[in-house]
Amino acid sequence: MANCNCEFCVLGEKIEDTIASKDVDRLISLVRELQNELLYTSDDLDHLKVIMDGSWPSAVEQLEKALEKAKNHPNRDVSTPF
Ligand SMILES: [Zn+2]
Repeated sequence: MANCNCEFCVLGEKIEDTIASKDVDRLISLVRELQNELLYTSDDLDHLKVIMDGSWPSAVEQLEKALEKAKNHPNRDVSTPF
């Protein structure tokens, strides 16, 4: 069973099962799926970076909303410094 239900843990478990079964065609398909997930993740990361550095057109509005949400987040623990 996967550690969590994120795309990478679920896919990782499928890959491990497929390696054990030695199904090469299935493994190739899963590697391609993993490659796509990495591309999507990379795109998301690039998008977040340009928001954080302020160069995205709506960066200020998005950061202000995120800051307000963070201030009111019920799970935020202010007693533990990062
Ligand atoms: Zn996970």
